[in-house]
Amino acid sequence: MEIKTPDNIFQNINTIKNNIVKSLWVDSPCYTDDMDLDEEEEEEHDENFYYTSEDPERSYPEDTFQNVLDNLGVLERFKAPPLNVHYDGDVLVYADWIDTTHVASPDCNMSPRKNPPEYIVIHYVVSSTSKKGTAYNVANGYIANAKKNKKVSSEFTIDDELIVQYCPDPTKYYCFAAGGASKYKPKSPKGKTMAGKVTCSNSISIEVCNESKDHSASHNPNDPRYYFTEKAVNNTVKLTKALMKYYKIPKSNVCRHYDCAGKTCPGIIGWNDEPGSNDESKWYNFLSRL
Ligand SMILES: [Zn+2]
Repeated sequence: MEIKTPDNIFQNINTIKNNIVKSLWVDSPCYTDDMDLDEEEEEEHDENFYYTSEDPERSYPEDTFQNVLDNLGVLERFKAPPLNVHYDGDVLVYADWIDTTHVASPDCNMSPRKNPPEYIVIHYVVSSTSKKGTAYNVANGYIANAKKNKKVSSEFTIDDELIVQYCPDPTKYYCFAAGGASKYKPKSPKGKTMAGKVTCSNSISIEVCNESKDHSASHNPNDPRYYFTEKAVNNTVKLTKALMKYYKIPKSNVCRHYDCAGKTCPGIIGWNDEPGSNDESKWYNFLSRL
């Protein structure tokens, strides 16, 4: 197999062998309500679940080196540009503006992928604020979820200041955010149009922290108190464009949780066609910037 490598990969092999991603195992509030693993995903997950959250010591497979080579094979197959991509320890970093301080180990609420991601799914966190640090709290919540075997997580989370990577390598592992198509019934025919095409296992999810005018996250979707800040949307544009470029994902494969599962997510006025919003202008404005 001929493989193309990022220039600095081999000098990092020892680092990859020696640096195991440490799980934080911090209990912290989780703001997301995206517990959306549908039955199909659940079955698939169980079949492939060879990292268990009951054994935190086993945080990385023994054949780390082979995994790295397999990953490079994927990069070659997809002709992904190696620019702006490197390993920091065993974490795949796309660019230096992505915050990797809250990357979790692969046994923390994620599953191995069979194929590289083909879709990008945008969500809202259902948070009370999007101030700096909220994305960290969300990532810590995913780790807390893993301790309880609650399958809720997302590859990336964004707040006003930070683009936080949770999944150590989204080429190799997927998180649990984009499911739920079997249970949601949108009122508008504009919802759920991509059901069956987009799943957790073929997509990358980006959770975007939202503000709430009364600093509460207990409202229904499309409550007028919820909104995305310009900073959070700008960060989301930046990350989505980088992922599209890296994974060769066309704009037509960038969707909302609303599109793939019918959930009112993002449940922000202007971002879906459900009652209380009936307005997708902000979503289409976001797409026009990609
Ligand atoms: Zn969602």
